[in-house]
Amino acid sequence: MRRWSIPVIDLFGIHFRVHFSFPLMFCMVWVLEAGRGPQPGLRSFILILLVLFAVLMHELGHAVAAARNGIRVRSVVLLPIAGVSLLDEQAQRGLDARREISISLAGPFVNLVLAVFLGTSILIFRPQVQLFTFPWLTPFDLPRSLVWAQLFVAALNLLPAYPLDGGRILRAVLARSGDQVSATRRAVSIGQIFSLALFVFGGVVFLGSTSNNLWIMMAGVFLFLAANLEDRSMILQAVLERVRVREVMSIDFITLSPADTLADALQRAVEPPQEEFPVVRGVDMVGVISRQQMAESMQEEGNGYVQSAMRREYLVAGPQESLAAVLRRIGRSGLAMIPVVEGDYLVGIVTFQNLMRKLTAISLRRPTPTTSTASAHVPQQ
Ligand SMILES: [Zn+2]
Repeated sequence: MRRWSIPVIDLFGIHFRVHFSFPLMFCMVWVLEAGRGPQPGLRSFILILLVLFAVLMHELGHAVAAARNGIRVRSVVLLPIAGVSLLDEQAQRGLDARREISISLAGPFVNLVLAVFLGTSILIFRPQVQLFTFPWLTPFDLPRSLVWAQLFVAALNLLPAYPLDGGRILRAVLARSGDQVSATRRAVSIGQIFSLALFVFGGVVFLGSTSNNLWIMMAGVFLFLAANLEDRSMILQAVLERVRVREVMSIDFITLSPADTLADALQRAVEPPQEEFPVVRGVDMVGVISRQQMAESMQEEGNGYVQSAMRREYLVAGPQESLAAVLRRIGRSGLAMIPVVEGDYLVGIVTFQNLMRKLTAISLRRPTPTTSTASAHVPQQ
């Protein structure tokens, strides 16, 4: 996303960037409106600035609402119909449905307030401007377009099409009754249907045509861009933030005892998918050892005990943590396995090998036996 944008302004510590599709939209408006009136180039440029202003105000609304919920927005990329905010990841993780909905509503709310304010001002000070005449957005009536740009941005963003605000609200509502992954996936597919519908609807009527339909069609294109190309990583991130460790951890795994000899342990650790093993005394987790470590220790020092070869320093995850947090930790540590611990009690493990399998199972909505019974498993000794 950043690659396709240029920095324009810093406001309240937020870096605002403009996406390349803004100049592209300027060219489209200019070409399509040329011949309808005087100075189409300059007027199209000002019209694009009015839309940019509406998107900027919209994003400031989100940023203020996010800040009030303790989330710092670091940078925003402005697209012709909406912005994409890069929120502080750490804080975003704890976001509940109610706060997500209030942050999502703040952007369209600012646009509506501005539309009412600007519309009323124009009616009072320049009554000759016809606010309700078609086309609403046109380079040849800029005061009218100033008001309608705000309404246009508000209305489009309220469509239930993820990653737009309406789609975020929809996802938050869906996620209340189901799991987060399928809620996000449903919100995304509804978004794709909407973008296609807008595009086709705009295109069909455009053949007819007033320039309003051009805007509807362009909105479809940009929504499609936002939903399909630019935000894929964001959608993935959103999914990962919402999957809990307990949903993907494996509860069927091999543990070793510190009193095992390395030769015995290696014999028990034959199954290939698991490379690293939790070492458990009673029900307490005391260390971690990999197959490679056991083999090396055997070669160097002969057949000792697991206790002397295991690592006592290791990372653990809680069952309620987000998968994104755990993946960051796995990435940094270079470990192949993270034990999932509730209290001192080992309840599961997360490995790269089983992670992909579990995520696929979740996304296909196949019931996995590990999701429901993950709380009280005593690993075999
Ligand atoms: Zn928004």
